[in-house]
Amino acid sequence: MISIAIDGPAGAGKSTIAKKVAKKLSFIYVDTGAMYRAMALYLHRNGISADDAGEIAKACGGAEISIAYRDGEQVVLLNGENVNPYLRTQEVSEMASKSSAVPQVRTRLVQLQRELAAEQNVVMDGRDIGTVVLPDAQVKIYLTATVGVRAKRRFLELREKGENPVYEEIAAEIADRDRRDMTRKVAPLRQADDAVLVDTSDMTIEEVTEHILGIIRSRV
Ligand code: C5P
Repeated sequence: MISIAIDGPAGAGKSTIAKKVAKKLSFIYVDTGAMYRAMALYLHRNGISADDAGEIAKACGGAEISIAYRDGEQVVLLNGENVNPYLRTQEVSEMASKSSAVPQVRTRLVQLQRELAAEQNVVMDGRDIGTVVLPDAQVKIYLTATVGVRAKRRFLELREKGENPVYEEIAAEIADRDRRDMTRKVAPLRQADDAVLVDTSDMTIEEVTEHILGIIRSRV
């Protein structure tokens, strides 16, 4: 099996790029952030506080998470329910960023991620794919961009959806999530020693996709 690992901070364009790369290669795209978000939704629905690591550790065993593919899109199932429509809210983002630091949460999801990669060729994106989940991945990419650029992309995305975002708030939130991802004890976000760094700050989606496909073709 061939595995392509794409890691990097929030808003670097991982999912957009990983999806396109997977399609080009006819590989399965696995969005591991969505799994952490489904777990967060479960915790949120059960009234667990995002700051109570002990309660999160106890409660996370009740969430049965799996994924399926419908019309080529990844669907996350939480105890059998398709929860895709509920994963992108502010509460879930905040809860996912905090609960993903709890080791019991990671153990459950990492196991599922490894099973998926053992069964099929995957492009998997996340924070710890190249460092922890799939250390033997044939290609590892570390995708990043400056906080300013990532905040601007998110700002435009929200405006496009008809919302009324405040740029400074988005930038502060992204910086906060970076800090939590990079400083947590278990599986912190960092570039694997053998990962290729791709800074997308001044690149279009098409340029990044082509660049990464070039890296993959030269190695696989
Ligand atoms: O990528 P996305 O923003 O959807 O991820 C949601 C949260 O899940 C992130 O804030 C991050 O803390 C966590 N995450 C993680 N490890 C991964 C993927 C996501 O800790 N492999």
